[in-house]
Amino acid sequence: MKVLVPVKRVVDFNVKVRVRPDGSGVDLANVKMSMNPFDEIAVEQAIRFKEQGKASEIVVVSVGPKETNETLRTALAMGADRGIHVLASGPVEPLAVAKILARIVGDEAPKLVIVGKQAIDDDCNQTGQMLAGLLRWPQATFASKADVSESTVTVTREIDGGLQTLALDLPAVVTCDLRLNEPRYASLPNIMKAKKKPIAETTPEALGVDIAPRLKISRTFEPPARSGGRKVASVAELAQLVRDHVGV
Ligand code: AMP
Repeated sequence: MKVLVPVKRVVDFNVKVRVRPDGSGVDLANVKMSMNPFDEIAVEQAIRFKEQGKASEIVVVSVGPKETNETLRTALAMGADRGIHVLASGPVEPLAVAKILARIVGDEAPKLVIVGKQAIDDDCNQTGQMLAGLLRWPQATFASKADVSESTVTVTREIDGGLQTLALDLPAVVTCDLRLNEPRYASLPNIMKAKKKPIAETTPEALGVDIAPRLKISRTFEPPARSGGRKVASVAELAQLVRDHVGV
C-alpha cells in the first residue's frame, strides 16, 4: 500500500515570531525553519506502517519555495522513500494546497494520505479536510491512534468527553494529532542515504492549479502585553475584584 504524506516547511516551533513593523505579516528573515511538527508525526506513522509490513512505499510531498527541498530531505532521512516538490514562492492557501495534493493523489493513487492536523504557522487546520472533500474520500481528523489493514484504517480520535474510534474504507485521509506517536530523529547514516533518494520537481501550473490567494490579510499585530498580577489580602477582596473587573 502506498502512503502519501504532505509536509510543510514552517517557522521552527522554538522561534518567537516577530511581527513586521508595518504590520504586513511576520518577519521571516534569518528565521530557523523546520518541518511542521504534526507532519513529523504523520511521517513517523507512515514509517511505522511500513515497518509493520502494512505500507509498501511512502511518498512525501511539499508545496513551497526551493528551500522546501530541505524539509523533504528530512522526511526522507526519517525513512520516507521519495519526495515530490511543488515549487511555489509565495504563500499558498490551504484550498490551493488541497487542490495540488488532489492532483498528486490522482497521479500517485495512494491508498492512504496522512496529513498533519494543522500547520503551526497559520493554524488553519483545513488542508486535510478540504483534500478529503475534493477527493470525496472518507476522513478521520485528529488521530491519536491509527491502525491500517488491507482495506480499512481504524482511527481513534480525542473528542470532548472521551475517545471516538472510526473505521474508514480505504482510500482515506487521516489527519494526526500530537499524541499519535513520538517522531524519531534521523540517524547520520540515514541522513547520508537520504541524499540519494529521489525528489521530483513540479509546479502548480504544471498540475493545472491556480494558487492565486483568495484571502486578504488586513493586519498582523502582536497580542496585547499581559498586565502583571497582584496579591490580594483576602478572599473577600478577591471576590470584589472578580465582581468589579470580570463582571461575575
Ligand atoms: P493547514 O490546513 O494549513 O493547517 O495544514 C494542515 C496540514 O496540511 C499540514 O500539517 C500539512 O500536512 C498539510 N499542508 C499544509 N500546507 C502544506 C504545504 N505547503 N505543503 C505540503 N503540505 C501542506
